[in-house]
Amino acid sequence: MKTRTCLILAIALFCLAASLPRAKVAAQQPAASPSASMADLVLLNGRIWLGGDASTFAEAVAIWGSSVLRVGKTAEMKPLIGERTQVIDLGGRLAAPGFNDAHIHFLGGASGLNEVDLTGARTVAEMVERIAAYARKHPDKEWITGRGWEYTPFPGGLPTKVYLDAVIKDRPVFLRAYDGHSGWANSKALELAGIKRETRFDGYGEIVRNAAGEPTGALKEGAQGLVSRLIPQPTREQKLDALRQGMKMAAALGITSIQNASGSADELSLYEELFKRGELTLRVSVAFSVGARTTPQNINRFVELKNQFESNLQAATMLRASSVKFALDGVIESHTAAMIERYSDLPPEHGAPFGELAVPADIYRDLVVKLDKAGFQIYTHAIGDRAVREALNAYENARQINQRSNARHRIEHIETVSPEDIPRFAKLGVLASMEPIHADPGTAEVWSKAVGVARLKYAFAWSSLLRSGARLVYSSDWPAAISVDPIRGLHSAVNRRTIDGQPPRGWVSEQRISIGDALRAYTHAGAYSTFEEGIKGRIAQGMLADIVVFSQDLFKIDPLRIHETRVVLTVFDGKVVHRDMERF
Ligand SMILES: [Zn+2]
Repeated sequence: MKTRTCLILAIALFCLAASLPRAKVAAQQPAASPSASMADLVLLNGRIWLGGDASTFAEAVAIWGSSVLRVGKTAEMKPLIGERTQVIDLGGRLAAPGFNDAHIHFLGGASGLNEVDLTGARTVAEMVERIAAYARKHPDKEWITGRGWEYTPFPGGLPTKVYLDAVIKDRPVFLRAYDGHSGWANSKALELAGIKRETRFDGYGEIVRNAAGEPTGALKEGAQGLVSRLIPQPTREQKLDALRQGMKMAAALGITSIQNASGSADELSLYEELFKRGELTLRVSVAFSVGARTTPQNINRFVELKNQFESNLQAATMLRASSVKFALDGVIESHTAAMIERYSDLPPEHGAPFGELAVPADIYRDLVVKLDKAGFQIYTHAIGDRAVREALNAYENARQINQRSNARHRIEHIETVSPEDIPRFAKLGVLASMEPIHADPGTAEVWSKAVGVARLKYAFAWSSLLRSGARLVYSSDWPAAISVDPIRGLHSAVNRRTIDGQPPRGWVSEQRISIGDALRAYTHAGAYSTFEEGIKGRIAQGMLADIVVFSQDLFKIDPLRIHETRVVLTVFDGKVVHRDMERF
């Protein structure tokens, strides 16, 4: 009895807390009241997964304005269909809440859509062919830029200018690796940057040279800046165009909400402009980048923007700027992620066999306390188990000092985690924000060697985290990933196999999760992570009408065929923003 009272009290308190930000939102949402007799849009004869914590389905959904008016059986929608109602027969197809990509670098990714795309190129010849074709198609472009190359196709693991010079001599070329940590320049770009045999670079990074001391065209980390700073910056109009193109792509993939993980005031103003012009087809949350160099002035500016958007009722369901993001370490592949035990493939005499924190622990901890006190939700990029532990410690410390509840701080990526730390996520209410596509076994070989057999059990530990009661939130990390498509993410989450079915038993297969849990991590959990589970992430009366329809039933098909699924219809804010006419 006592437990029950506590439970009821807890639920009541939670509802009260959840209703506070919601009250503002409700003020300008068209109230989905029964008095609005006719629906604007009705989806009939489907298998509509309602999302949230339950696993229930309905046949039909009626939409009025931007909200869901009713959910139920097809027959129940008949009275809501008037002359002006758009009716779409789903023909038994599966529908679900729109995808929420909870960690993305949308402006960067969208800007790249107009550049050379080397994603997925398996041979150097294929890359060179794509680059040459792009150059032919864009004779007016002063610079040829792009990204997406992988290290493995090149002899020695790094590209050289020779391949580029063979096809483009007269214009500078600069192409970033898929992970953004290395760049590939041709001779013209090196010449413009003044990079010669005698050029020195003392920062974090390297001008790669051949045996004769000649720069090869490969540039690591900060050395990329020597070339990239010369590339003409896009104008504001070009950035807006890139975002428009990105939104179109997102709509075709069923993405209706995004959370930007490296935002700035400038980027936020672009989304604001699109919102004011009525062009936004995504709900956008922006996390401002912070680090050791963040000044009190910077923080004040972020607080100003946060307050400005929190009180902007018109934009309430569309734009948020209440988060900040730290990068606490690097990546496993280059041994820059901070580990508790040494890397398995580094000799003991190596200078940094454990990797290092990117921000000194004491500075990070102090900043977390300050930002938590200022009311921000904090994201921390932590890939090594040591960095994950530091982040949990810092959040715990801030909670003790500030006594703030429901802060919903997050840790990003969590590629490795000590089993002792797993239960701390649920205990501290810290969200596990992860990318299923990062665990694509096709890219896991170098990773596995560095982590070693003993730690492999907790590689991308989605299942362990979920079972411990942690909230698992999914995303793509595009463009620092091989695909932005949530379907590819779902495929990885459920199978831990490549789209070719490798390895046959799955990579660390005990960390697979069910399709329902994977969909939840891509919908409801994303809404929770922006404090918006009361208005989106589920299909229910009064919720925002963001809905996707699939070409096949993800719950019924062979899991190995998930990657073949296509989004055939996307409804955003009650309106159809994408329809695949060939398939549907
Ligand atoms: Zn990221």
